[in-house]
Amino acid sequence: MSATIIDGKAFAARIRQQVADHVARMKADHGLTPGLAVVLVGEDPASQVYVRSKGKQTVECGMASFEHKLEADTSEADLLALIDRLNADPAVHGILVQLPLPGHLNSDLVINRIDPAKDVDGFHISNVGLLGTGQKAMVPCTPLGSLMMLRDHHGSLSGMNAVVVGRSNIVGKPMAQLLLGDSCTVTIAHSRTRDLPAVCRAADILVAAVGRPEMIQGDWVKPGATVIDVGINRVERDGKSRLVGDVDFDSAAAVAGAITPVPGGVGPMTIACLLANTLTAACRTHGLPEPE
Ligand code: NDP
Repeated sequence: MSATIIDGKAFAARIRQQVADHVARMKADHGLTPGLAVVLVGEDPASQVYVRSKGKQTVECGMASFEHKLEADTSEADLLALIDRLNADPAVHGILVQLPLPGHLNSDLVINRIDPAKDVDGFHISNVGLLGTGQKAMVPCTPLGSLMMLRDHHGSLSGMNAVVVGRSNIVGKPMAQLLLGDSCTVTIAHSRTRDLPAVCRAADILVAAVGRPEMIQGDWVKPGATVIDVGINRVERDGKSRLVGDVDFDSAAAVAGAITPVPGGVGPMTIACLLANTLTAACRTHGLPEPE
């Protein structure tokens, strides 16, 4: 293995510490405590784990955590009414609705009901538009965490060829926008892309957000490239359940210049960025200086 392993776990711990320090100053100087409300509808086991972890880390940073767990058959009207209450609640600065929602609920309608100023996931159409036009937005946490690791590793990304595999609204598209904002030449690949290995081999920066375990192989990676593996896939190996990314780590790490592991790469950065976004939302609401 030749690649540098980008340690998202350690990076995320540094961000959480910075958030905690800022929150402590905010409390001392202004008597303000940022608050994050997380809404979970139904019993999806992976979502329950994420929500628990988000709540725990929110409290550890000194912020207030409000968890709203609703039955799987909650009506759209009841969910929208809860969002209206959270929008109006001055103790709540960030609102996150855990996705995916049960099939009878319209995610677009629900997400777009969140006050854009409290939309810490950055999925509201206003924030999508602001990001797309290069204006100050709430930026989706997973792409933001990925960009922070890239900037930390490379400094400037200007002029680099970036390939994002995946075009979802929550990862692929905002990732591409952020890379474009940092002056990369960006290609977005997806399930209809022709000769995906060749497209990937042109990348100085390769971001995998596909949801297919270990799909991207070492011989798809340009020697020396930086690989960001967003995928989180649970697989059975030797009778044990384990997490793997969308990249075949061993073969890719033999070729890449740098690579994020799974777990311990993008995952921890995502939650750290959620906490940072909540702090940013609180600062903007109260007209206070934002964290850098
Ligand atoms: P989606 O299923 O919404 O999107 C997957 C994308 O991958 C689609 O654009 C799809 O293309 C593309 N795709 C699927 N199969 C292929 C293929 N064979 N070749 C090329 N492209 C393909 O997934 P998400 O964006 O929500 O998530 C992607 C991964 O990231 C998942 O593993 C998820 O668990 C993980 N994730 C991790 C997070 C973290 O915190 N680290 C947060 C969010 C997600 P098309 O549009 O043509 O169908």
